Amino acid sequence: MSNNLTSSSQPARPSVAWIGLGIMGSPMSENLIKAGYDVTGFTLEQDKLDRLAAAGGTAAKSIAEAVKGADVVVTMVPASPQVEAIAYGPDGILENAKPGALLIDMSSITPQTSVDLAKAAKDKGIRVLDAPVSGGEAGAIEAVLSIMVGGEQADFDEAKPLFDALGKTIVLCGPHGSGQTVKAANQLIVAVNIQACAEAVVFLEKSGVNLDAALDVLNGGLAGSTVLTRKKDNFKNRDFKPGFRIDLHHKDMGIVTDAARNVGAALPVGAVVAQLVASLRAQGDGGLDHSALLRSVERLSGGQVA
Ligand code: NAD
Repeated sequence: MSNNLTSSSQPARPSVAWIGLGIMGSPMSENLIKAGYDVTGFTLEQDKLDRLAAAGGTAAKSIAEAVKGADVVVTMVPASPQVEAIAYGPDGILENAKPGALLIDMSSITPQTSVDLAKAAKDKGIRVLDAPVSGGEAGAIEAVLSIMVGGEQADFDEAKPLFDALGKTIVLCGPHGSGQTVKAANQLIVAVNIQACAEAVVFLEKSGVNLDAALDVLNGGLAGSTVLTRKKDNFKNRDFKPGFRIDLHHKDMGIVTDAARNVGAALPVGAVVAQLVASLRAQGDGGLDHSALLRSVERLSGGQVA
């Protein structure tokens, strides 16, 4: 009796299909499971599917199998080409999800891809939100992501309880594509901030100042930032295990510089940092965390201080 009362007092949670269980998608989907959602997932790596099943989710063998009957489909894949590959075509989400389903794309992609997806989905009776995130792997694990959303107010309201299980700062920024535009601005700020921190680290070390003490006091003042808090140990220990790969930040710097050109906004510092990210990638460091921008500054400065 009391069990019945307890279960009937819980609001019904929509069933969720999750496509893309990488660095971000795995911990995020696990947070949904912890919050009581039924999650069926699909991704390209078998070990990630095994991880989902071990966490209490269901591993599907295909996108079609995962999304069939789901109330909500969440996608978290690398970039626009992957979003298009999983959304369109006979094996894709739009063809196989039920009409009325809500598709929430949390990947960081071009605003135009989000606008086009929302339009194509509407023809199938599927609603779409673009909902890219900021906060990195740690933010995903701790469920404290910032989630920047584009789409309709009613769809945002429906998705809000799900977003609450993934993040802390959750804002509807405007119509379809707006979340992606805000995310592009986010990536501009983060890259420039990392580059400034990396330059400061090399400057401080070459000057013979205690790096720990310097970064602590800097982080308590106006120069302090989430980037410095989260990346301090990466800089100190030259630990560039991703985290957020240079390859992905290169993609994001392409999105922001292109989108800015389209609207006539000048990004002079962003353009230079985009070149530094591209150069690091060209030197073979694309798989490293974006804090590896430090390596580039070191190379330009004649190497690491012994
Ligand atoms: P990742 O490379 O670790 O994971 C991507 C996942 O997508 C992989 O598991 C892969 O199997 C899956 N995938 C790709 N193509 C697929 C397909 N056709 N079908 C099914 N699954 C497919 O990437 P990530 O670091 O988790 O990043 C995902 C997105 O989140 C990117 O857009 C990235 O820019 C953004 N993001 C990442 C971070 C971060 O710190 N890693 C932070 C914020 C935003």
